[in-house]
Amino acid sequence: MGLQQEFWETPSAHIRATRPDHPVIYAAPEMLQASARRFIDGFPGLVSYAVKANPDPVVLANLAAAGVVTFDVASPQEMAMVQSAVPGAVMHYNNPVRSVDEIAQSVAFGVTSYSIDSLSELAKLAPSVSRRCEVAVRFKLPVAGAVYDFGDKFGATADQAVVLLQEVAALGFTPAMTFHPGTQCTDPAAWRAYILAAADIAKAAGVKPARLNVGGGFPSHRQSGNAPQLDVIFSAIKAAGVQGFGPDHPVLLCEPGRAMVAEGFTLATRVKAIRDGAHVFLNDGIYGGLAEAPLMGTIDRTTVIRPDGMPRTGPVLNRVVFGPTCDSLDRLPGTLRLPSDMVEGDYVLFHGVGAYSTATVTRFNGYGALEQAVVFALSV
Ligand SMILES: *Cc1c(COP(=O)(O)O)cnc(C)c1O
Repeated sequence: MGLQQEFWETPSAHIRATRPDHPVIYAAPEMLQASARRFIDGFPGLVSYAVKANPDPVVLANLAAAGVVTFDVASPQEMAMVQSAVPGAVMHYNNPVRSVDEIAQSVAFGVTSYSIDSLSELAKLAPSVSRRCEVAVRFKLPVAGAVYDFGDKFGATADQAVVLLQEVAALGFTPAMTFHPGTQCTDPAAWRAYILAAADIAKAAGVKPARLNVGGGFPSHRQSGNAPQLDVIFSAIKAAGVQGFGPDHPVLLCEPGRAMVAEGFTLATRVKAIRDGAHVFLNDGIYGGLAEAPLMGTIDRTTVIRPDGMPRTGPVLNRVVFGPTCDSLDRLPGTLRLPSDMVEGDYVLFHGVGAYSTATVTRFNGYGALEQAVVFALSV
């Protein structure tokens, strides 16, 4: 992915010129930078990017160009990707379970912040990590609000967090706190509950955290007509910070993945077959760029175009949509509203699919070879 990269005007211009028979994902640097600026301008604190949502160099470079300097990494491989795409980036290593080898590599990469949720993992960091580093205690609450809840896997209980925070401070690290409300979280009350709980934990520990990392989980636009209200969430976070900790609250930090990159990408799939006038078979599905559909629900923001790039505008029909593999699970949940004049060879474009799509693609059954093309605009 070098400087010689070719730019296309729009997805339809690329489709008209190349008639791809494989799925293509279109990246729009302009949109990536706009999403980054929305966080930088709107969030009441520092903004980090959770690399796992989409580690593509185009993403990392454009977020950096828009002013993102901090990246949340979970593995040495992600550290290497960040270092090569954004030399000098600040890295936060927020996977709370690490091998001794991984810790040694993180020190070599110059990581400056770690999160932990157990005494055993803190003990593993202590011998090799500089006391100039920040160590954030990750805790969890039984809060609903996200489509997918990470709470089950990571996070100390509030009682454990009190002890961990004291231990971090006693070891001489810069104490901080963190949580992650789960992904595609649309309810500001989730952040509020976590921030107020963080204040209680800090008070019980008698430790003042330097920073409070409110995680990722910010929602992207998945259902048409229902754009998420990030500003409402930002204000709720700011208000809760002041309510919980007072005006002298810890520096707030967020680490969005999904909401930073989703809008920057559109996936073009091709209609392989329409069987019995009802069942649509696409050349990509849940083992490819639409991997999240079974877990998160289908993205219904679609446009259908002909191979010459012209949109189909017929009245919509609810269709059952299958992916290309021979696995019967390879089906989008529910039905998708698609134009009745759509025919085989047309393209179904899914909008807002930049997160957890290219990052998790498989080559199951010989499918999943996603081409990535860069466009000036995602408008069809
Ligand atoms: C995955 C993850 C994120 C990003 O989550 P999104 O829902 O994509 O915003 C942020 N922080 C941590 C610790 C994560 O594991």
